[in-house]
Amino acid sequence: MQLTFDADVESFRAEFAAFLDANLPTEAETTERAYSSAHVPDWARRWQRLLFDAGWLLPGNTPEFGGRGASIVEQYVHLEELSRRRIYHSFNPQGLGIIAASLLSFGSEEQKRRWAVPILRAEITAALGMSEPGAGSDLASLRTRAVLDGDHFVVNGQKIWTSGAHDADVLLTFVRTDPDAPKHKGISVLLIPTDTPGVTRRPFGSVVDRDDVDFNEVFFDDVRVPAENLVGALNNGWHVANGSLGHERTLLWLSFAERLEDLARDFHPADVLGADAYARLVMDLQALRLLGSAALARAARGEQDVAALSVLKLLGSEAVQKASEQAMESAGADALVHPVVAAPYAHLSLEAFSSGWFERYLRSFAGTIAGGTSEIQRTIIAERVLGLPRS
Ligand SMILES: Cc1cc2nc3c(=O)[nH]c(=O)nc-3n(C[C@H](O)[C@H](O)[C@H](O)COP(=O)(O)OP(=O)(O)OC[C@H]3O[C@@H](n4cnc5c(N)ncnc54)[C@H](O)[C@@H]3O)c2cc1C
Repeated sequence: MQLTFDADVESFRAEFAAFLDANLPTEAETTERAYSSAHVPDWARRWQRLLFDAGWLLPGNTPEFGGRGASIVEQYVHLEELSRRRIYHSFNPQGLGIIAASLLSFGSEEQKRRWAVPILRAEITAALGMSEPGAGSDLASLRTRAVLDGDHFVVNGQKIWTSGAHDADVLLTFVRTDPDAPKHKGISVLLIPTDTPGVTRRPFGSVVDRDDVDFNEVFFDDVRVPAENLVGALNNGWHVANGSLGHERTLLWLSFAERLEDLARDFHPADVLGADAYARLVMDLQALRLLGSAALARAARGEQDVAALSVLKLLGSEAVQKASEQAMESAGADALVHPVVAAPYAHLSLEAFSSGWFERYLRSFAGTIAGGTSEIQRTIIAERVLGLPRS
């Protein structure tokens, strides 16, 4: 097994590292924080635009979409350099990683120009309207209806958990357009600007704090959406959904490895049990890195192994949760003090990962729920990796 990169990949890394060294925003420039996943401070908009213009935003894209036609291994190295410096390429992660990516895969040329490029250049922000009160893991049960009326769709229904919707300019919204078709076959996708009459966004606090506002309920009451805002073919939304969520999955494990590294740095075990937990954290991190590297090598060879990505997501998200819990217990009552600065100050990071242990533990649940819960990952692994019979 080769655990190093070829010389051309290392020179790609060196070029990007030099760009970062020359252009990273300073601490004085980055004082305004991001309040939600679609609230992008001006400095972060300028930063994203700089990356876009230089072809360093999403290097796998073509230059017109902020990239330079980089290979998957180069894309990995790009993320590794960003994460090493604890800087994000975008502070509207769903906009960049899911919505713009979906538009580039499934949208019309006009939609790419009108919506994808402005999202990539941080001129507008976007949120993802998939989940509903009765449709999360079972997304295909979604009930928000869209009925074609002349050259408009009329949308009625409700979404929930829509991260950053209150700050977003547009929602990529999954709607039911054929109620009589089998449930996977009657879904379509619409771009709905948030200022359209009939769209109501109700932000609400998270388990961390009532002032930690990212989630939204979004209501649609007779919302008229131009038919040209249909993304992909009518009733082909399931295909878009699978593509949308698949976009960043190959390298998702890297963000869990980053969290584990933060934990390994900040967690100082107080006793023997804590030391035992620390050892497990280090072993989980090693296992994640090795399995992730093997998955990267397979992807570089053009092989697709979706079930192996479930193993990485499950291992990474649960290792972060377990280690955060242990660190919280080790800290005792101090873990509850908010905010406890349990990590060195890093001006480019979102505060979430340099805050107190209790908050870090609570935030770790995002990893085991969003993008497919642990139970769903276990079912995929049971059926597709272990070959166990369906119950
Ligand atoms: C931080 C965060 C951000 C999010 N952002 C967005 C967003 O921007 N846009 C958006 O649309 N959604 C978003 N979501 C919602 C997310 O996609 C859903 O929470 C997730 O799909 C789970 O759905 P649910 O909450 O409805 O839980 P449910 O699907 O109702 O599940 C409840 C419990 O039952 C279990 N369960 C369900 N089905 C099965 C099964 N078949 N077998 C075994 N166990 C099962 C689950 O594992 C879970 O423990 C976000 C969630 C989080 C945590």
